[in-house]
Amino acid sequence: MEIAPAPGVAAETVSIEAASPFEMRVHLGEDVPDMDVRTALKTGDLGFLHSFTTGSAVDGPGIRLVAWTTACMFRCQYCHNPDTWTLKNGIPVPLKKAVEEVQKYANGLKAMKGGFTLSGGEPLMQDRFAARLLAAVKSMGVHTAIETNGYYADRLSDEEIANIDLVILDMKAFTPEQHRRVTGLLNDEVLKFARRLATLKRPMWLRYVLVPGLTDIREEMEALASFGASLGVVERVEILPFHQLGEYKWHRLGLTYELEATKPPTAEEVAKAVAIFRAAGLQAD
Ligand code: SF4
Repeated sequence: MEIAPAPGVAAETVSIEAASPFEMRVHLGEDVPDMDVRTALKTGDLGFLHSFTTGSAVDGPGIRLVAWTTACMFRCQYCHNPDTWTLKNGIPVPLKKAVEEVQKYANGLKAMKGGFTLSGGEPLMQDRFAARLLAAVKSMGVHTAIETNGYYADRLSDEEIANIDLVILDMKAFTPEQHRRVTGLLNDEVLKFARRLATLKRPMWLRYVLVPGLTDIREEMEALASFGASLGVVERVEILPFHQLGEYKWHRLGLTYELEATKPPTAEEVAKAVAIFRAAGLQAD
């Protein structure tokens, strides 16, 4: 699918497909009038996407097609894709087109025991688009996953959650103070969503980004591990080592990047974090 970008942004047409979400994309939806944006958010007829990427082996089980949405309410210090914070940085894509894009890959995804993952940004900033897209993909018989920070999960009904085969919940911290330090906001809603998934008995993966000097706090990880284990629905914990692939985006967007001098964790530090979650009885890697 080729979509014309906003005037003056890029001479060539921008493809909805990207080699990776680390491609920098800005201003691609700026031509959409605010009134149309409001309607889009209310109905889900139109979504704003950074891109689709194919062949991912790290965003859920099997090989995945991933749609990356724009807009996020958090401001994680370690965010790799700050260009996805702003809704109108994304390409405006009618829901119908997004469904067609997934349909192209449906048979292959099923054959590879993979599926479709909706990620971001924060996909539930566009909750109507997300819910409708996931329902349409589910009806194709394709495995569905959402990677979310959980903050707006209240916007999904139980029926809509049932259309999601796997929730990959990004948990940034356990205590409210640490969560605010990392993201700028509190995490009551995130914990509430995790408990709701447990009540609904929906499968969940938990993700935690390990950043030396910011999130490598033993007590935080122990509390998170104990909470995760208590839910009874966490199938897997993924410790994601911090990296600097997104650093250039912070600079190009003129943002203050606090983690300039931060190095990725060593293999030993990652192993220690993994061990904390395993000690709580969770499958972690
Ligand atoms: S929740 Fe994700 S997209 Fe949003 S700021 Fe944090 S890392 Fe970035």
